[in-house]
Amino acid sequence: MIKRGEIKMKHADFSPSAAYRWLNCTESFYLHKQQETSSEAEEGTKAHALAEKVLKGENVNSDDYDSEMIQAVNYYTSIIDYYQQQEPHKIWVEKRVNIIEGCFGTVDCILWNDNELHIIDFKYGKGVFVDAKDNDQLKIYAIGAIIELKLTQVQDVYLHIIQPRYPNQEPHRLHKIDVKDLKEWGVNKLIPVIKSIKEKKGLCFNPSEHACRWCSHSGSCKALAEHNLAIAKTDFKDIANVEESTLPVPNELSNEQLVQIKKASDLFKKWLKAVDAEALRRARAGDKLPGLKLVEGRKNRKWQREEEALNLLKSFISEEAYTTKIITPAQAEKKLKERKIDKNVLNEFIYKPQGEPVLANENDKRKELKLNAEEEFKCIN
Ligand code: SF4
Repeated sequence: MIKRGEIKMKHADFSPSAAYRWLNCTESFYLHKQQETSSEAEEGTKAHALAEKVLKGENVNSDDYDSEMIQAVNYYTSIIDYYQQQEPHKIWVEKRVNIIEGCFGTVDCILWNDNELHIIDFKYGKGVFVDAKDNDQLKIYAIGAIIELKLTQVQDVYLHIIQPRYPNQEPHRLHKIDVKDLKEWGVNKLIPVIKSIKEKKGLCFNPSEHACRWCSHSGSCKALAEHNLAIAKTDFKDIANVEESTLPVPNELSNEQLVQIKKASDLFKKWLKAVDAEALRRARAGDKLPGLKLVEGRKNRKWQREEEALNLLKSFISEEAYTTKIITPAQAEKKLKERKIDKNVLNEFIYKPQGEPVLANENDKRKELKLNAEEEFKCIN
């Protein structure tokens, strides 16, 4: 059986986990370069390996994993147990499925019971929200499972994302898709795109926040830069000559303009970060960038021979020489747990201050705030 570690060396050309990019921006298929593995990716691999062991009933030494990972894996496996208790399903764990030459993947968990197919994907990351709806990766896995396991009777397909560590959202997202719609998508979208990429015919750039987020080409992508400028120009007229005084005053923008700019801001931030990194890289390599120069970054002064410095300082100003700070409630609870002390002993000393109002996407799990407009207006004046 192919293990996760081996997949790294034998990566699918048309990787389902990157389908959101190559399916939408076909040019990126040849421009994006596989990135070095990150510590987050390694954590994800470890969490998946643990989940696999648990689902296969293998022995697990809990000392090898931190409590956050154990909790996340417990949540993921509890969802699978729930479905198994409702009605026994045939189960495949870490199942490799092939769709078409060059397009294959490993599904975290497949459940099947004669007409219902569940494709379950465990996401350990907590930085980027992943939805089950319109999820190209899950749709490819579902097609792969139907082909690979010869599930000719399938009627309903359930796509699951289980992302326990992402804050303020339901950790289990479920989307049902009719098998007819899934097959139509495969025939009319997936296969033609793979064919056109293989034949290098009709390739196009299609920048979007979703497609460009992890694309390694984003720092030098002309299409993305033009896309960002086009968005900017709808509000800023001539981006090349923008100065602070020429930017529209936010309180003169319409609600539609504010929403448009807010939605584009993530893409802009990513692009500007990539532009900064590219400019720095060129300057470090010796390029002259008109109007810019390489300087040493700012740093605050630090103590050296800290203990000696502290002793000297204490001789002048005694306890004013240092500060002590209590650890956070979360850190305290973790430490009590490690010592097997009931964390509830701290309850009376912990409170949660009310958060300032912030704007979030409408699918955010937090309850919508209803503010008293008159009171708010008084604060502003
Ligand atoms: S940065 Fe975006 S538009 Fe450019 S190649 Fe990558 S995915 Fe396509």
